[in-house]
Amino acid sequence: MFKLADRLNQLPPYLFAELDKMKQQAKAKGVDIIDLGVGDPDLPTPKPIIERLYQAAKAAENHRYPSYTGMLQFRTAAADWCERRFGIRLNPQTEVLSLIGSKEGIAHIPLAFVNPVDVVLAPNPGYPVYHASTVLAGGEIYSMPLLRENGYLPDFSAIDERILKRAKLMFLNYPNNPTAAVADEQFFKAAILLAHKYNIIICHDAAYSEIAYDGYKVPSILQYDGAKEVAVEFHSLSKTFNMTGWRIGFVVGNKEVISGLGQVKTNVDSGIFQAVQYAGIEALSNQATAVEESIAIYQKRRDVLVDGLQKLGIKLEKPQAAFYVWFEVPEGYDSTGFTAHLLKEAGIMTTPGVGFGEYGEGYVRMTLTVDVDRLHEAVGRLETVLK
Ligand SMILES: *Cc1c(COP(=O)(O)O)cnc(C)c1O
Repeated sequence: MFKLADRLNQLPPYLFAELDKMKQQAKAKGVDIIDLGVGDPDLPTPKPIIERLYQAAKAAENHRYPSYTGMLQFRTAAADWCERRFGIRLNPQTEVLSLIGSKEGIAHIPLAFVNPVDVVLAPNPGYPVYHASTVLAGGEIYSMPLLRENGYLPDFSAIDERILKRAKLMFLNYPNNPTAAVADEQFFKAAILLAHKYNIIICHDAAYSEIAYDGYKVPSILQYDGAKEVAVEFHSLSKTFNMTGWRIGFVVGNKEVISGLGQVKTNVDSGIFQAVQYAGIEALSNQATAVEESIAIYQKRRDVLVDGLQKLGIKLEKPQAAFYVWFEVPEGYDSTGFTAHLLKEAGIMTTPGVGFGEYGEGYVRMTLTVDVDRLHEAVGRLETVLK
């Protein structure tokens, strides 16, 4: 009776909702599912963060509307964290904005800058929100293929000059979801140069900046010359501190861009519950050790899963960062067919690469968000199925 707006019909079905349906159906049949599908940490939020929330929730002054831009104290904690972590200096008043999770900021930023004639450059395969937010803003998406032979970095030289001239905004994401690839200084410098030349806003999604292995330290795009003139970087407490349910993140960088996003937000939301912001301050200021503990756990899991897959003859390297393992499906399958096969025959839930865009076809993604025992079990089941 009520027809949906055209813009919603232009969106593909949200992948994770579809996969959830598949999973629920298998569960209803009594299958013991090992869920290597959704990227949501299984580890609990560190206790001191929860304690801080509990205290702050009791204080009446936190029960009122928070400020739109986020408490200055939270933004200062975010700026200080960026300085300690990346050596970058930020003005917490103008160059930091709090977000109700980084997804919220990523979803809203095209509304601030993209008109229907504008192009948005987005990685493919990629986090689905870049595409969706562009469509909802009426913009035109241009997919930058992430190919294995290029280390899953976009090849800027392959983009037509006419597209670059129309491009308003470019999403990048390293460490990358879904490929787990990382980007180096040379890549970020090339992106910054391109953005200066064509007047493009770089939106770097750094949700996995803290999840890295073997001592590797992920860089921020903002630590390179000229970045602050063209770039903002989205940070999230979700993956770093096991806080996906809490909904808190922040964006840093170019102040004009931040102010534009802030203008959209002022009109659609009213900020983050202050008790959650206090908990966020605790996380950013005092919980570096807890992060190291999580990483040690993910690293062990990575070794179990990747060693297991390699023994089964699957070609892949150990990821340096993020909690994903991305590999080519065996011959004879496409990514959805392989996902369905693993669910049916092994009770293992994975994510088909094609769900992240057509350039993800032929791959699947597994996550490291289940414990080592279950990963051993998963490898055992894979051995039976893939033989
Ligand atoms: C998980 C994830 C996010 C969203 O994080 P929130 O802060 O919880 O909204 C953003 N980008 C990528 C690539 C992610 O995987």
